[in-house]
Amino acid sequence: MLDVIPLPAFNDNYIWLLRLRGDQRCWVVDPGEAAPVQRYLQTHDLKLEGILLTHHHADHTGGVADLAKPGVTIIGSLQDVYRLPPLNLQVTAGDRFQVLGNTVQVLEIPGHTLGHIAFYFPEQEPPLLLCGDTLFAAGCGRLFEGTPEQMHASLQSLAQLPDSTQVFAAHEYTLKNLEFARQVEPDNARLKARQESCQALRADQQPTLPSSLELEKATNPFLRVAQPSVMAAAQKYSSNPDLQEATEVFAIIRQWKDSA
Ligand SMILES: [Zn+2]
Repeated sequence: MLDVIPLPAFNDNYIWLLRLRGDQRCWVVDPGEAAPVQRYLQTHDLKLEGILLTHHHADHTGGVADLAKPGVTIIGSLQDVYRLPPLNLQVTAGDRFQVLGNTVQVLEIPGHTLGHIAFYFPEQEPPLLLCGDTLFAAGCGRLFEGTPEQMHASLQSLAQLPDSTQVFAAHEYTLKNLEFARQVEPDNARLKARQESCQALRADQQPTLPSSLELEKATNPFLRVAQPSVMAAAQKYSSNPDLQEATEVFAIIRQWKDSA
């Protein structure tokens, strides 16, 4: 089984480090800066074997140049090859490769950026999803490049993964996201319970991640745009009682969050 360890970076980023217990090799995902990774490698006497990149933003790639020693494999999206640091492997939807003896499957999830990908580990029990800035705990990434249609489709494709899938997002945005989610669905009891447990975790300086896909489907408004409660909130916010189509509801909820 892989251990997935959060290395906090900048104000609210997580660089996720993957390692096998009792093995000195490791990989990192989205190293926006090198120092937290270098510190961890040194303290735990680990050797970096590879880097996975979900998208081209600097707070996900800024540390690559300093970490890219010979023998370190760098993997990212074929579509973003000109906007990413030099890659050893360019991947696209459906590609599979191995990380520490485990199969990784590439998912294309445009919206936050057009070339955004996720890394899915189907053989882990439970499965692991490293999804960058697309699916957050109780939220989703901003639409810097893609359309609401693209982001909605990307999130729906992630929602098809098993409920037990562990979701490793790249930012600790959870409390702010939960505050907004409660505006959308004030009567969602699981959402209220989640907010309380996440507040306790943050008060204790613990990460609120990973979450599970099951919990996201129960509490994340961006995965719940077909639910009557979320639809009604979007209708009220947009003063459009005819609003029903899931993509349009998604677009309104995203717009509401951006202006909140
Ligand atoms: Zn980003």
